[in-house]
Amino acid sequence: MRYSAELSKMLASAGAKEGSVISLTIDGSEYVGTLMPPQSGSGDPDIIVIRMKNGYDAGFRVNKGTSIKVLEQPAGKAAKKSDRKPKKGLPNIVLIATGGTIGSQQGGAKGAQSPGLSADGLLDMMPELSDIANITPKDIISVFSENVNSEHWQALAKTIEEELNNGADGIVVTHGTDTMGFTAAALSFMLKELSAPVIITGSQRSTDRPSSDAYGNLLASVRFCVSSKAAGVYVIMHDSMNDDSFAVHRGTRVRKMHTSRRDAFRSINTVPVARMDGNGKITFNDEVPKASAKTKAFTKMSDDVILLHFYPGMDPALFRDAAVNSKGIVIAGSGLGHVSDGIASLLKEAIDKGAIAVMTSQCINGPTGMNVYDTGRELQNIGVIPMNDMLPETAYVKLMWAIANTKNAKEAKELMKDTLSYEMGDRRTTDVIW
Ligand code: GLU
Repeated sequence: MRYSAELSKMLASAGAKEGSVISLTIDGSEYVGTLMPPQSGSGDPDIIVIRMKNGYDAGFRVNKGTSIKVLEQPAGKAAKKSDRKPKKGLPNIVLIATGGTIGSQQGGAKGAQSPGLSADGLLDMMPELSDIANITPKDIISVFSENVNSEHWQALAKTIEEELNNGADGIVVTHGTDTMGFTAAALSFMLKELSAPVIITGSQRSTDRPSSDAYGNLLASVRFCVSSKAAGVYVIMHDSMNDDSFAVHRGTRVRKMHTSRRDAFRSINTVPVARMDGNGKITFNDEVPKASAKTKAFTKMSDDVILLHFYPGMDPALFRDAAVNSKGIVIAGSGLGHVSDGIASLLKEAIDKGAIAVMTSQCINGPTGMNVYDTGRELQNIGVIPMNDMLPETAYVKLMWAIANTKNAKEAKELMKDTLSYEMGDRRTTDVIW
């Protein structure tokens, strides 16, 4: 979408460009804000979009009487660096940015949010973090997490291994929230031996929004690294709508359960390992692994694994190629772990060709129960392995890891039945909320 010829001319003659702070006078009222790109899609070409002081974008239809004045031109990229000289006695944390909303700002090329904020930029926006730790920024990628794949998980795990073995006291990874659970699970299996906490965090609102949850989540993550020796992979995000509670979720048990709420992340089939209040006080609910002297990353991954969500009427023919050519199939089955007869036959064909097939439940809450009905028993007879209360996405990542880190399918199947990183539970707690 572009501005209309008339509006473009008005902007040009005022000397206004994207990022200029402008004063807009329409029908006697003045509005001040930063000029944003035109609306995307089929937006009205006579509407000018400015970012107001409160951080929100507003669109105004210009007319012949509108006047546009530039108050300030964009300063370029020379943001003021906060004082980040290492301070004696503070722990050393490495902040690794990968993109996502927490690494985004409004006004990207397509007129919406786009990633591009580096770890360094994040620290500049939150200079207080440097009072509690010496934080080294590091950028690995800058993408929305729907574009993250197993190569990114491997690069992350290797970087974390290197930084921890070089003496870091903790790692904070900023990540898009959409597939954060997958990355958290992948790092949980890859980093079985850890010398310090690895925290993955993100935000539901970009850092330049006044309502952003980025600052709270990042502060809680750094605080957790500084004051706990919990050497595991955790996701830390808001646990309430306010800034007064943060949940520490195990990397293999966490799921984004709401598209937009700040407290979208929940531990599934277990309670969060810990909670932190708004002052940084931590209350543990469960055990955490002991720190190892060194960190060791086992980063091999097989990409020949598929994740199928069963649905009524699912046509086996549509999935045949994918199923018979894969080394591993994770099914999010209905109820206790079921699929139709047609899909069961397809699974049999794939298993007979050497694939490993495992069953999770699309109910998300509760374990599989494949001895209750004939369907479940029949699926087990053909070789489908129940995954108890493991999340489908965790089972998917685990199967990728198990296939790549064992000598044969038999060993990989044994690994799938073992609990490697708290991914399935015998620890039933009465206060599991679902
Ligand atoms: N879809 C984007 C991502 O997962 C934005 C969502 C977010 O970070 O909250 O990276």
